[in-house]
Amino acid sequence: MPKKKAPVAAPAKAALKPKRPKRPKKPVADASQTPEIAAPVEEPLELASFSDLELSEPVARAIAEMGFETPTPIQARAVPLLMAGHDLIGQAQTGTGKTAAFALPLIHRVEASKGETQALVLAPTRELAVQVAQGIYELAKHTGLRVVPIYGGQPIDRQFRALRGGAPIVVGTPGRVLDHLRRGSLTLEHVTFCTLDEADEMLALGFLEEIEAILAQLPAERQLAFFSATMPPRIVTLMKKFLRDPQTVSIESKQRTLDTTNQAYYEVAPGQKFEALVRILDMETPGPTIIFCRTRRETADVAEGLQVRGYGAEALHGDMNQSERERVLRRFREEQCDYLVATDVAARGLDIDTVTHVINFDIPFDVEQYIHRIGRTGRAGRAGDAITLVQGRERRQLHLIEKLIGARIQPVRLPSAADIAARRRDRFKDALRAALEAGDFEGHMATVEALTTQFDASEVAAAAIAMLWKNQHPDAGDAQEIEADGEQPELGMTRLFVGLGRQDNLRPGDLVGAISNQTGLSGRDIGAIDILDNSSFVEVPSPAAQDVMEALRRSRLRGRKPEVQIARPFEAR
Ligand code: AMP
Repeated sequence: MPKKKAPVAAPAKAALKPKRPKRPKKPVADASQTPEIAAPVEEPLELASFSDLELSEPVARAIAEMGFETPTPIQARAVPLLMAGHDLIGQAQTGTGKTAAFALPLIHRVEASKGETQALVLAPTRELAVQVAQGIYELAKHTGLRVVPIYGGQPIDRQFRALRGGAPIVVGTPGRVLDHLRRGSLTLEHVTFCTLDEADEMLALGFLEEIEAILAQLPAERQLAFFSATMPPRIVTLMKKFLRDPQTVSIESKQRTLDTTNQAYYEVAPGQKFEALVRILDMETPGPTIIFCRTRRETADVAEGLQVRGYGAEALHGDMNQSERERVLRRFREEQCDYLVATDVAARGLDIDTVTHVINFDIPFDVEQYIHRIGRTGRAGRAGDAITLVQGRERRQLHLIEKLIGARIQPVRLPSAADIAARRRDRFKDALRAALEAGDFEGHMATVEALTTQFDASEVAAAAIAMLWKNQHPDAGDAQEIEADGEQPELGMTRLFVGLGRQDNLRPGDLVGAISNQTGLSGRDIGAIDILDNSSFVEVPSPAAQDVMEALRRSRLRGRKPEVQIARPFEAR
């Protein structure tokens, strides 16, 4: 694909080819100096490339390994400004790639040969501190830099040891960071780069005093960046107090409407995205669909996962050569495969009128990307559906997109296996009804008449339908079996459905082994086990049901990750 050069905003352009960053030599700001906060840099930089960011070889290698193709908009805008030594205000949510937006310049700045703490990232919660530390570590893994997370709730002794061992990059929650500063186990004397991540959240959690106390200990010569999804007045006051001549980047853009597309989202539990995707495909039975992922690696994993389950899927990403790309696109256009699993770069400009659905397996980085992605459907005046999978905190990012496009993105409940079974049955019934109405079965009446001398006509019909169903849904035994399962668990026990059965060589011992290895339960605690053709049922004590489900989902049974859920008795539906 020809690479177009991105339009670059004036301040960012000057910063695109940074030399070794010059640190701004200005006195520490105080409340009386209230710098103007510059207007956001708004120009889209969609087509920027990582090579524009002049990353060191070890960092560029890590990025390639992670499968990132292009910088996200916030990265394309913030990295050059930070590399050039500016203080920065970044208005961005989780899911926009903001961690790398500050992590890349931070890694660039820190020197591996020095053990002392040179970079500090403050994050509101333990969960986010760990996530950010992990994100920095992934990017820095070939540089030899150590990243140490410090947060409340973890034994402080362990943190003393980690800090003593040399911690060039520290990521911490404000309370615990201040605690270490007071105890002398951490010093900010050598910090040249400090970032506040989710500054609004930190303030909402009541950390203002701690943050002020920490920032006041930064040396005069240092660079400071605030990332925040919203800019309430208290943040602005804090920024004015500590930031010097900051540049602002924002990923907001003008409102648009996308009239011909229905937009929906599903909330998905961590680790359940792929399962959710499969269910959605089973429920919606879409026509040609583009499934968007963030990285090459993910497109390959998702496409392969779908293929293994018997769906016609192909990956499309920026690493493919022209002929591979053309082959995949031809198959998709000619409807030889239903699902195209693509990165944004690979799907840029794709114009295929028949696409009925766009599924955002990963939430888009910003509203531009959302609009671009969902614009692949609802073309040529046809209706289209755009579905986004959202995990945890990404819900905020989705609501921001919703606000910016000025349209409602409808929340939808994830279909259960029983919903899917019911849907399949309905479609099957519709097909039978259509065949009855078409009346094109004269040639088989003699067989029916011969059989009805011995069997009831309804039995003959049911047997024929059973044969047909099995033929059409060789893999759907589980869905039917869930439905057929009228067993009631014993009192105090919960009956779990496991999506593997005899045909997968599953034995009762596999279930008992997996459950007892991963939970505290022993074989005696486990109740009835029924192994069916394509699925199984196991009864476990109700208080442990959730743990058992999670343990089984994590485990591999006969080499496969099973689908696991609570079995619902037939009458309950
Ligand atoms: P964040 O907003 O920092 O939490 O990042 C959201 C997700 O996007 C993380 O899973 C990152 O690994 C991923 N990510 C960050 N930058 C890129 C990029 N340039 N290309 C693809 N994925 C990315």
